[in-house]
Amino acid sequence: MNRRQTIPAHLRYTIDNFRRDYPTDDVCLEAIKNQRYPGGVTFCSGCGQDRKLYRVAKRTAYACERGHQFYPLAGTIFEKSTTALHIWFYAMYLMGSTRCGISAKQIQRETGVTYKTAWRMFKQIRSLLSETDMQLEGSTIEIDETYVGGKRKNKHGSRGMRGRDNDEKTPVFGMVERGGKGRVIAFVTPDVKAATLFPIIEEKILPSSTVYSDEYSVYDRLATPANGYDHRRIKHAQKIYVMGDVHTQTIEGFWSLVKRGIGGVYHSVSKKYLQTYLNEYSFRYNRRDQGNLIFSAILERVSQKASEKPSAPVVQNQTL
Ligand SMILES: [Zn+2]
Repeated sequence: MNRRQTIPAHLRYTIDNFRRDYPTDDVCLEAIKNQRYPGGVTFCSGCGQDRKLYRVAKRTAYACERGHQFYPLAGTIFEKSTTALHIWFYAMYLMGSTRCGISAKQIQRETGVTYKTAWRMFKQIRSLLSETDMQLEGSTIEIDETYVGGKRKNKHGSRGMRGRDNDEKTPVFGMVERGGKGRVIAFVTPDVKAATLFPIIEEKILPSSTVYSDEYSVYDRLATPANGYDHRRIKHAQKIYVMGDVHTQTIEGFWSLVKRGIGGVYHSVSKKYLQTYLNEYSFRYNRRDQGNLIFSAILERVSQKASEKPSAPVVQNQTL
């Protein structure tokens, strides 16, 4: 689990590295500009041609040589915020560099923003981190369902916990590639019935994959001709957790990371936000060997998920 320590030195991204790279609001704005307008050049509809952009003093704007203005923050999570851009960047850095999650309290303490602001910032950043669009590619996949939140324990063998007598907890379903890229996808689901889980399984797991699960009866149909997966299962009820390569310890490791984080850092997470927390944990987990690239990946999401495309910028005909 403790794979962060194995990141080679050249991939590490320390707080000193971060502070060197993003010391001021201007530098942060420049980074977003360069993402949204690669090379600092974009098509200017005012001029009808590609133009190089120059910074407009005292504004979060750039302009072409004829004064048509472009706002790289338009449509991003930063657009309407009064919080300084470098504090947003620091929040993204923290979220990318932690293993078990980061509390709003910490950024409140370190930057002086209010707790409410800190909480909202993390919520906004988390909203960018969805990992549920991707397709698993590994030939070997572990799947497992569990319950998050609530007060009752959910341990191995407690099969009575599933379903209706388990209202306090939220069901979640996860799939992880074993070997290869080792990526995880996790969903909050309304329940753990076959009708709920199988559409997800069929969408995300290639038919030729070998699928490892525990003995939960819903998984019986993995190997039916309709699904045709090579299905191996471990008998947790008989207190067997590993038999050769038959186990689900990779996905269980991910669950324990999520539960430790939500219990320890976030204390509790309402059902409404649980998917975004799963996204946050999945996003980091799926880049756990990438060190310095995690922050860049979060920053990229800011541009990718901006509601306005940079090809349709705000243009104002204004003299500099
Ligand atoms: Zn122009």
